[in-house]
Amino acid sequence: MDFVAVGCGPYNLGLMALAEKTTLRGICFEKRTEMMWHEGMLIEGMTMQTHYLQDLVTLADPTNEASFLNYLNKTGRLQTFITQERNTIPRTEYNRYLRWVSERLSTIEFGHEVSDVTLEAEGFLVTVESAGQTKQLRAKHLVLGTGMAPFVPAGFEQVIHTSEYMTYRDVLKDRYRVAVVGSGQSAAEVFLDLLRDATDEQRVDWITRSDHFETLEAGKLGDEIFSVDYVKYFHSLSYTSRKELIRSFERFRHGVNPETMTAIYETLYHRTAERDSTKAELLTQVEVESITYDWLTHQLTGKKMYTGEEVERTYDLVVVATGYRPVLPSWIDRLPIVWEAEREWRVGETYEVRMEEELSGKLFTHTNLEHSHGPAATNLGMAVYRNAIIVNEMAGETLYEVGGQKPFTTF
Ligand SMILES: Cc1cc2nc3c(=O)[nH]c(=O)nc-3n(C[C@H](O)[C@H](O)[C@H](O)COP(=O)(O)OP(=O)(O)OC[C@H]3O[C@@H](n4cnc5c(N)ncnc54)[C@H](O)[C@@H]3O)c2cc1C
Repeated sequence: MDFVAVGCGPYNLGLMALAEKTTLRGICFEKRTEMMWHEGMLIEGMTMQTHYLQDLVTLADPTNEASFLNYLNKTGRLQTFITQERNTIPRTEYNRYLRWVSERLSTIEFGHEVSDVTLEAEGFLVTVESAGQTKQLRAKHLVLGTGMAPFVPAGFEQVIHTSEYMTYRDVLKDRYRVAVVGSGQSAAEVFLDLLRDATDEQRVDWITRSDHFETLEAGKLGDEIFSVDYVKYFHSLSYTSRKELIRSFERFRHGVNPETMTAIYETLYHRTAERDSTKAELLTQVEVESITYDWLTHQLTGKKMYTGEEVERTYDLVVVATGYRPVLPSWIDRLPIVWEAEREWRVGETYEVRMEEELSGKLFTHTNLEHSHGPAATNLGMAVYRNAIIVNEMAGETLYEVGGQKPFTTF
């Protein structure tokens, strides 16, 4: 086996689609029993933040059958997609597209968890668990795509993370006092969805520690950080400079899509058309310190960041948009990895995790890359170039041309 891909999110699914057209022999193991993408946030009406051509394969190979356009054609939706004149895909449809692609690839095994990996003379020995059975196989290379897990800060009791939103949506819409904490895209979508259905008696608050509710608008030239040239430049910088730069991108990464922000504003405006109160309190610059749970209520305590004023509110339920952390399987601790800092491994330009000693195979990664490759690390469009580079590296030749698309900015 040339490679084993661990986890089947969009990144490794795209890898399998590109590898399908090569002579590489690989298999992808996914612990879930079927393809499913961020199911807790599949809110009807919400769209992707990336262009529909930034699908699984088009940027590397527009002729690949796993393109979004081919999906549209094969499912009878091409004409209606054109007529609606939108560049973005509904989030629910992106999930359906991923499932469509996964059903067409014979190289993905669902219901299989990679539970261990050890070094072998010729690469890696991979242990896989499935329905109580254990099997082992050898692979020259590994491609890690284990994604991110929801993160909830200590001191937040019995809260609902946005990743679970669809599971609790009906319960949330039934409660009288609900708060959404955080101000990124997920928080905005949840706030909007709750606000749209809230009755006159229900209150939905939105609380953030950001200075203001910010819109995600890098502008066309600003968007050129999502280019192969920029990733190359970012990767060449020192660890300290990379960390500094990442901080400067927070605004773009945690801002809200302008369309969502407009929809929120309009909803608030319409709610006050017949009465004065929106029954929605919007608070910025509030550092939420704790959310305690007692007798079916949540007590939220925080501080106004610039005045020190105490903030206390009582809610029936609280949704937190406190982000995600990369999933690093425990078996990576047994590999001789070179670390730049705690949990931040050193990664080569072509996405191989650096090892203390020369190994015969490589551990490539999609996961935990932001500190080494910058904001493009979590961008679906840029993942296509990353997959092209990984396929080329594993094949030992250039099967997919990368770097032909030039931004206007010189990095
Ligand atoms: C709500 C939301 C919306 C987003 N929207 C966009 C967007 O519009 N545009 C954009 O560019 N980016 C977006 N992102 C960011 C990013 O592109 C996505 O998070 C993307 O899903 C990451 O893909 P992935 O393949 O790394 O991981 P995931 O989609 O998280 O998949 C990882 C998979 O690995 C499996 N797995 C983990 N460990 C193992 C194991 N040991 N064995 C087998 N399987 C395992 C998991 O079950 C999971 O299915 C969004 C993120 C979120 C949270």
